[in-house]
Amino acid sequence: MASPVTKALGAAAAGAAGFAWYHGQVPTSQFYGPTICRVPEAGKLIALTYDDGPNPEQTPGLMDVLERHGAKGTFLLIGSWAAREPELIQELVARGHAIGNHTFTHPTMPLRSSSQLREELLRCREAVDAAGVDFSRVDGEALMRPPYGRRRPATLRTLRDQGYVPLLWSITCFDWRRTVTADKIIRRAMRAEGGDIILLHDGSHLDPAHDRSASVTATDAVLSRLTEQGYRFVTVPELVAAGRTT
Ligand SMILES: [Zn+2]
Repeated sequence: MASPVTKALGAAAAGAAGFAWYHGQVPTSQFYGPTICRVPEAGKLIALTYDDGPNPEQTPGLMDVLERHGAKGTFLLIGSWAAREPELIQELVARGHAIGNHTFTHPTMPLRSSSQLREELLRCREAVDAAGVDFSRVDGEALMRPPYGRRRPATLRTLRDQGYVPLLWSITCFDWRRTVTADKIIRRAMRAEGGDIILLHDGSHLDPAHDRSASVTATDAVLSRLTEQGYRFVTVPELVAAGRTT
C-alpha cells in the first residue's frame, strides 16, 4: 500500500504534469512566455485566423466570402502546401490578408530539437519567399503559430531567435473534429467579443485539399451576424495595432 509520503509525491508529480500540460497547451496561457492570443483593448475588432492551408479547394472560396463582408483574415500556412500553391499565397497577400508560418510539415514542436524546428521554420519561409511574398509582421517579427498550439519554453526561445512572434488564439471552434457541422462552429465563434482571435481551418496537415466547407459556411454566417452587431474583422497585425491606439 502506498505510504502517505508516496501518495503526496504522486499527487505533486501529477500536479506538476498537469501544470506543464496546461501551460504548454492552453492557447491563452502566458506562463511559458508572451504570445499573441487576444487584444482586449482593440474595441469592436475581431481577427479570424485559418490554419493548415493554402488549400486549392477551399481557400479561394473563403477569400470570396471574406471579401463579400469586407473582412480580412490571417492565414497560417503549412510550408509543404504553400510550396505547391505559390499563386494562392500571392492572392492572399494581394487581397489584404495576413500570412504566417505554421511550419513545413506540422510537427508537435515540443517533441523536436531546436535544429529541427529551425529547419521547419526555414523550409516554410523558403516556400513563401519562392512565391515572392513575405510573412506578415508585428513589431518587425514574423507571425508564427505552433501546430496544435503546443509549445514549451525552448520552443518559444527558438521562435524568438528566428525572428518570429508566436500567435495563439482565444476562441477555439473545434472545426477539425470529424463530427463538426457549420452550426457547431457558428455556436463556438459567436462567443467572440472585441479583441478575440478565432481559430479556424481552411486546410488540414493530412490532406492538401481537405474539405473545410463547414468552416467556410460558418465564416459566412458569423460574419453576417457579428458585422450586424458592429464588429469589424481585421488581420492580426491590424488587431494588435488597434489595441495600442485605443
Ligand atoms: Zn495546424
